[in-house]
Order: sequence, then C-alpha cells, then structure tokens
Amino acid sequence: MPTATRARTKVTAIPGDGIGPEVMRATQQVLAAAGAEVEWEEALAGAEAFRRGIAAGAPQETLDSIARTGVVLKGPLETPVGYGEKSANVALRKTFEMYGNVRPVRELPGIRTPFSGRGVDFVVVRENVEDVYAGIEHMQTPGVAQCLKLITEVGCERITRLAAAVAQAEGRRKVTVATKANIMKLTEGMLKRIGEQVLAEYPGLQHEHMIVDNCAHQMVIRPEQFDVTVMTNMNGDILSDLAAGLVGGLGVAPSANLGDEAAMFEAVHGSAPQIAGKGVANPTALLLSALMMLRHIGDFATARRIEHALYVTLEEGKDLTGDIAREGEGVPTAVYVERIIANLGRESGAVPEREYRPIALKRWPQITWYRAASTRELVGVDVFVESERDPRAISITLQAAAEGSAFDLTMIGSRGAQVWPDIGGHSFLVDHFRARFMFKEPPKGNGIAEITDLLQRIGRQHNWMHIEKLQRFDGADAFSKA
Ligand code: NAP
Repeated sequence: MPTATRARTKVTAIPGDGIGPEVMRATQQVLAAAGAEVEWEEALAGAEAFRRGIAAGAPQETLDSIARTGVVLKGPLETPVGYGEKSANVALRKTFEMYGNVRPVRELPGIRTPFSGRGVDFVVVRENVEDVYAGIEHMQTPGVAQCLKLITEVGCERITRLAAAVAQAEGRRKVTVATKANIMKLTEGMLKRIGEQVLAEYPGLQHEHMIVDNCAHQMVIRPEQFDVTVMTNMNGDILSDLAAGLVGGLGVAPSANLGDEAAMFEAVHGSAPQIAGKGVANPTALLLSALMMLRHIGDFATARRIEHALYVTLEEGKDLTGDIAREGEGVPTAVYVERIIANLGRESGAVPEREYRPIALKRWPQITWYRAASTRELVGVDVFVESERDPRAISITLQAAAEGSAFDLTMIGSRGAQVWPDIGGHSFLVDHFRARFMFKEPPKGNGIAEITDLLQRIGRQHNWMHIEKLQRFDGADAFSKA
C-alpha cells in the first residue's frame, strides 16, 4: 500500500501511436490502483511529431523530460512513410545511449503455446546500438551494397556486464554468450572473447558460449536450458523475437532499454493500427514492461502485487481481451483492466518467486574510449576495385600498377573467396574485387605516401571504392585472412 513518506518517482509517459494511448491508459490505471508511487510526465513522440515536421520523431520537450526523469514508459511509435525515414524509437535509444535491450521470455498462465508447461523462463540481453544496426551502408558499385558491422570492445564489455547484472538482479545462475564467432572471428569473436573474460569475474555465475545458429535451434528444442543470453544487435533482434514466440508472441512480450542516463520500458509489439481506437487492445505487454519499470525504480512490492493479480486473471481466463481469450469470449480492454484491478491482493502459485534486486549497472565514464596497443605495424592494404574483367586480367593490370611501388599484389578476392592466384573452385564473379597488396618491406614512416602512390597508380586503370589498411596490433594480424 502507498505510504505518505515514500517519494513519488517521476516517469515520462509516451503514449505513442495507434493502440499506444489505450494500452498506456490501461497500464496507468492498474499502476494507480495498485498504489505505485509514480508521477507521470506525459510526452509526445512518433507520428504526431513527424507530422509537425520534427525529423527525429520526438520534440525537444520530450527529450528534456527524459533527461529529467531518466525513466520512460513508452507506447509503440509509428514511422509514417513520407514524413521522414528515421525511426523515433531508434532516435530515442541512440540519443540516450540505451545500449542494452532486455527481453524477459517467460511462460504465462492461460496463454497456450506449443511450449506450455515447459517452464520457459529466461532473459535475452541484446546489444542495442552497435553492429550492422549502426546503419552505415554504401553502394560500392551500382550492383553491390555494403553494410559495416561495427563491434567495439567496450560495447561488448558493457553488454556482458549488463547481462551479468540482470542475472544477479533476478537471482539467475547462468549466462549464455551466443555469437557467430566461428565465421566472424574479429567482430562476433570479440563478444565471445570479451564476454568470457568479463564473466570470469563473476564467480557466482556459470557461463558458456554457444554458436548463435545452434542457440536458435536450442531455444526451440530445449528452451528450459536458458537463463540469461547475451548477443550482438542483429542476432539479439532475431532471437528475442523467436524467444517471444515460444511464450505467446509479441503481443505479450515486454522489454527494457537500459543505459547510463535513461531507462525506457516498452511493449515489443507495434501500434496495431487495425484495432486502434476500438478499445480491444491487449495491454499485457505494456503492463509487464511497467513491472520491469517498477523494479527498476525500486518498487518491488507493487510490481509483485500487480504481477500476481495479472497471473490470477490469466489463470482464471475470465475477462481477457480477444487476442488471448477463448474463441468468442474476448472483452474490451477496460473490462480486462477492471478484472486485473479486482484481483489485486490475490496470489497466484504460477508466479516464479524471485529475489529481485535493482539491476546494478556500471556507470561508464563520459570520455572517448581508447584502447592502446603496445605495438602497431602497417603491413599492407586491401583495395576494393570495380571491374567487369576476369581475375587474371585484373591481376595483370594491378601487378603492372604496383610495379615500382612499395607493394606486391598477393591476392585478389571476390566476396571473401580467393579468385587469384587461382586455387580451383567456381566462384561466381561480380564486379567487386578486393586486391590485397603487402608492403615489400616495412614502411619507414606512417605509410600514407606509399598508399597514396599505389592508389594513384591503380586509379589510372580501375575505379577503386575503398581501402582498408592491413595492420598488426600487439603482434597479431588485425584483419581476416583471404
Ligand atoms: P504490430 O503493431 O505489432 O501489429 C501486428 C498485429 O499484432 C496487429 O495487427 C494485431 O493483430 C496484433 N497485436 C499487436 N499488439 C497487440 C495488442 N496489444 N493487442 C492485440 N493485438 C495486438 O505490428 P506492425 O503491424 O508490423 O506495425 C505497426 C506499426 O507499429 C508500424 O508503424 C511499426 O513501425 C510500428 N512498430 C513500433 C514498434 C515500437 O514502437 N517499439 C514496434 C513494432 C512496430 P490483429 O490485427 O490480428 O488483431
């Protein structure tokens, strides 16, 4: 019950678009009835902001409110076609560097799935701001596109420490780092390497590594084995949706976006425009997100009270919204909310009892993070060229171009496969080649003059799109082999 002494926590509420205002109102009603000590600051974002010409999808007042409260409960936001291409969701996550996405995956009573009764109860922790979702893309030739996959050591450390903190906050025992390190040794391999290093510092937690495609398979075959999983952005995006499917789908899936400055809690589903305004939307996902928010602000008792009332409601199966009710028995959102409120104070045996504690996030310093290397060597350069010729013909022109330069041409590759010198095989060729040039002897200075000379020579015969320096840090190759 509320006490007169407990200070109310300010929370920014963004109702959002479509069914957003309906599920927000429903959630706020349940929180108020349960006595949550929350003071809402309502803020705008999404379609209306775009219509007003705000390119980021959220006006300054909204950003100011989030900066002030540091806690957001958010409805779904649309990105209307024709008003701007950026997603307001992504803009909010990036503006406040909410680097971790936390998605609990837990079986709910009364929500029948092929996995019901298996006790599925785990958390997917997804890196939220790096990887290919940094959105750095270029067309390299008219028919070849590139997307940069940027993974940083500090990003891997942050997300792994968050996964460990989530495990500790919920009394969980194991963290599974899932990566594609077998193929992308430098990028995905970095999460494996840093993840294992970081998790070794937590003696109370077991940890393991799993190749991410097997992780997808294991989530379907034996989902009970997982406790906390941690992944890079795109893998986490895909597997967290897969995991939501195990326990009833996106309509009942909550999430949190966490960072140093702000935490934003939201349902996973979108604005469901087909049912918007009809008063039939299911608010369960936003309500479950609000429970994560209450625990974040330390109001564990109210979160527990609401969770039990929700579970009792779902178990009894009376007065559920159409998407989860038995065929033909769906009721309006308002009736479902009344039923949950009426069940406040009742206890459900289906709620797993956990000793929740606040997630102890490490605070990251406001600096430009820098990792020194004891030695650095520049050993060559990969030059990406556009050509419709065959690899042998290209090798002749590139060798001629390198004649008298500081480099030898050692290899030509096409989409990762070596096509010169010929090693057999039948690579389908496209007009995009990577030519690897190695320094004949280590450059005296920083090697820039030699690279510039080489590029000028190549540029006389070929269109080159970009280059990558081939470096060695601390004596180890900092590039993938051909
Ligand atoms: P969606 O809004 O999640 O809706 C897909 C379908 O799921 C709905 O048509 C509805 O099915 C059902 N549904 C979803 N939430 C429900 C709820 N709470 N209660 C009952 N039924 C629910 O996905 P979408 O149609 O792909 O996306 C629509 C818009 O939402 C897009 O503009 C998208 O950009 C945006 N979006 C925003 C977020 C976010 O803000 N985080 C996330 C995803 C999508 P029935 O039609 O069968 O009733």
